[in-house]
Amino acid sequence: MSDRTPVIAANWKMNKTVPEAIEFCDELLPRIEDAACEVIICPPFLALPAVVEATGGGPVQVAAQNMHFEQSGAFTGEVSPAMLLDAGATAVVLGHSERRQLFGESDEALSRKVPAALEAGLVPILCVGETEDERERDETDRILRRQIDAGLSRVPLERLADVVVAYEPVWAIGTGRTATPEQAEDACGFVRSLISARDEASGAAVRIQYGGSVKPGNAAELLGREEIDGALVGGASLDAGDFAAIVAAAG
Ligand code: PEP
Repeated sequence: MSDRTPVIAANWKMNKTVPEAIEFCDELLPRIEDAACEVIICPPFLALPAVVEATGGGPVQVAAQNMHFEQSGAFTGEVSPAMLLDAGATAVVLGHSERRQLFGESDEALSRKVPAALEAGLVPILCVGETEDERERDETDRILRRQIDAGLSRVPLERLADVVVAYEPVWAIGTGRTATPEQAEDACGFVRSLISARDEASGAAVRIQYGGSVKPGNAAELLGREEIDGALVGGASLDAGDFAAIVAAAG
C-alpha cells in the first residue's frame, strides 16, 4: 500500500439540474461519512454553487469540468479560474477525452490550463489516455508521453505533485469496457515514471487515478492496485448509492 491518499471523483458530464444535484448530495453525504479517501464532485458549471452549498463544511470537494487559462477577457462561452474560485470550486478537470475529441481541446491549451489552475489555487485533474486504435497500434506509451509532456510542460517542479492525473483509456469511457487491472496499473505506472523522470519525489507523491467504466463491481480490484490512487467515475457517479459504493471500495 502506498501512503498516497486515494481520490475518487464524480464526473457528472452534462447531467443533473440544480435540484437534481442537491438531491444527489443529500443522498450521498450520509453514505460517505466514514470515507477514507478524498471525494470530489464535478457538476456542470451552473450547479457548482449549489453543490458547494449542499456539501458545505464537509470533506467533499467540488470541481469544474473545464476552464479557460485566462483570468478574463473576450472569450465568449468560457469560464475563468477566478470565476471557479468565486463559485467555491477547489479543483478542475482538464483535458477530458470528450473535450479533446468533441471540442478540439489541444495539448497546447492544456499546457496553459494546468499551470493556470495551480496558480489560481485550484487542483488540476489532468486527463490522459489513448484511443482503441492507438492501443492496437501499440502507441499507448507514446500518446501518454505526449499528453503528459504537454500538460505538465509549464508546471514548476515544486508543483508537480499538486497535480492529479487521471489515466482514462478512451475505449473504456462510457463503453462498459473496463481496462483490466493489469492494463490500468501498467499505464498508471508509466505515467508515474514520466513524472519521476522530472522529479523523483514528485513521481512518488503524485496521485494517478484510473477512469473508464468504473463501477461498484470492479472498483475494489482496480483501487487495490499499488499504482492506482483513485478513480474518475462518469456513468456510475450519477447514482448516489453506486458512487458511495465506489468511495467505500477505496478504503
Ligand atoms: C469519465 O467520464 O471520465 C468516465 C470515466 O466515464 P465512465 O465512468 O462512464 O466510463
